[in-house]
Amino acid sequence: MLGTGILQGMVETARNFVGSYTDEARLTTVEYPEQRIPLKEATRQFPFLVFDGSDPQAGLRCVACQICEKECPPQCIFIEKSKDKKPDYIGKPQFYPATFDIDISVCMSCQICVEVCPFEAIKMDNEFELSTTDRFGGLLTHKQQLAKPNEHYHKIHPTEAAEVDARLAADKAKAEAKAKTDADAKAKAAAEAKAKTAASPFPAIPVAAT
Ligand code: SF4
Ligand code: SF4
Repeated sequence: MLGTGILQGMVETARNFVGSYTDEARLTTVEYPEQRIPLKEATRQFPFLVFDGSDPQAGLRCVACQICEKECPPQCIFIEKSKDKKPDYIGKPQFYPATFDIDISVCMSCQICVEVCPFEAIKMDNEFELSTTDRFGGLLTHKQQLAKPNEHYHKIHPTEAAEVDARLAADKAKAEAKAKTDADAKAKAAAEAKAKTAASPFPAIPVAAT
């Protein structure tokens, strides 16, 4: 019947209201802000940028690929790519964001930026006490405010952060193994070339540079 759900909701509210005088379990509200209900692990508000280590600039995972900027539905991310590069978590030189701003007065907490980021660099924060009296730019959040350590990510989303760490560690181990294999192959080729030259009865002819 039309409206049954509304009636059921009202009955439940009435049961909680009356029951809260005798049963603490029916007291579904707390005296915020003095009392706070612990946030669930899946809680999400606005994005933040993850950095590894203790230096927010050196450890920032973002490589300024700008995928999130393009995919953000309300277009509230603003990125300027750096001119130089810095090493990423596996030591590969990468660009970094010279500017990374999010206008959280526009952000709709959809998490699309997080899902499209190939570098595990942007995640959803659970911070919600962000009100300001400045309506002209007070909620335009800059890189310095957005950058938070990996420890913060672990604190608010422990399961997800542990999975991400394991994935990044596996990528790093794979890259290090490949670099070692390449270096060994190069050293072997150089040693073989040297041995071949030493065994040759003819002196090596210098090749003119072109
Ligand atoms: S959560 Fe959604 S709206 Fe907010 S910055 Fe990310 S993509 Fe944009
Ligand atoms: S947060 Fe991720 S998707 Fe966005 S620019 Fe940085 S690396 Fe690219």
